[in-house]
Amino acid sequence: MLRIESLSKTYRTGDTALSDVSLEVPKGQILGLIGPSGAGKSTLIRCINRLVEPTAGAVWLGDVNLVTLGKAELRRQRRRIGMIFQEYALVERLTVMENVLSGRLGYVSFWRSFTRRFPPQDIQRAFALLDRVGLLDHADKRADALSGGQRQRVGIARALAQEPELLLVDEPTASLDPKTSRQIMRLLTEICAERGLPAIVNIHDVPLAQQFMQRIVGLRAGRIVFDGPPEALTHEV
Ligand code: ADP
Ligand code: ADP
Repeated sequence: MLRIESLSKTYRTGDTALSDVSLEVPKGQILGLIGPSGAGKSTLIRCINRLVEPTAGAVWLGDVNLVTLGKAELRRQRRRIGMIFQEYALVERLTVMENVLSGRLGYVSFWRSFTRRFPPQDIQRAFALLDRVGLLDHADKRADALSGGQRQRVGIARALAQEPELLLVDEPTASLDPKTSRQIMRLLTEICAERGLPAIVNIHDVPLAQQFMQRIVGLRAGRIVFDGPPEALTHEV
């Protein structure tokens, strides 16, 4: 499904964030990325959809190598990848429903297309997603009126509205309290399991990763130092 081959990233500053990372994520697998701050977790997630440009290597999504695509084709292929962010990246002045629908249109084209009418099936799907994340009663509320946990639920629904084949999740609970973090992690992993949707979750909280992830990959100084099931993780990576 996703195959990363010898991925490397050296920033212009000379910092090497990833060195020769190879990783395969099969359909339906929920993989947690752990490792100390600066290990390269965020860079790895961002290189997959080229929010950060890799220096070398390949990222195969099915039989498409995302790394070699031109801008227009990259934009099209990115629709296959859902993103969930630490700070939610919601449009604060829009409603919950509008934020979810924005996932359907794609982040870039959203403003241009906003005044267009949405097809009824998009609206229906958005309501179904809001129901699934427990926010049906909040559809008309503005995003800036929600709690952190509710915002992240919107973030999840928005990513799913785009009907992705892969989810990239960057520290989804870093701004949330421990109880809300567990609720969000449970919701996220249940939804992925229901849909057979593979996910890579950058998760700095090791106990949380052990509780919810099927597979854990540990990074240190840009290299993979652990790859296995949570129960095989005996020491801090
Ligand atoms: P993590 O997500 O595990 O904390 P990052 O991927 O953010 O790690 O960072 C990995 C390394 O790359 C660190 O040394 C960091 O300083 C460096 N780095 C990250 N982003 C940039 C950037 N935009 N420019 C230069 N160096 C960066
Ligand atoms: P950066 O500031 O790191 O260069 P960008 O300019 O690419 O990031 O993106 C600006 C904002 O939009 C950020 O908050 C980022 O998280 C968010 N963003 C970028 N790409 C997407 C996407 N495909 N879907 C949703 N939000 C996105």
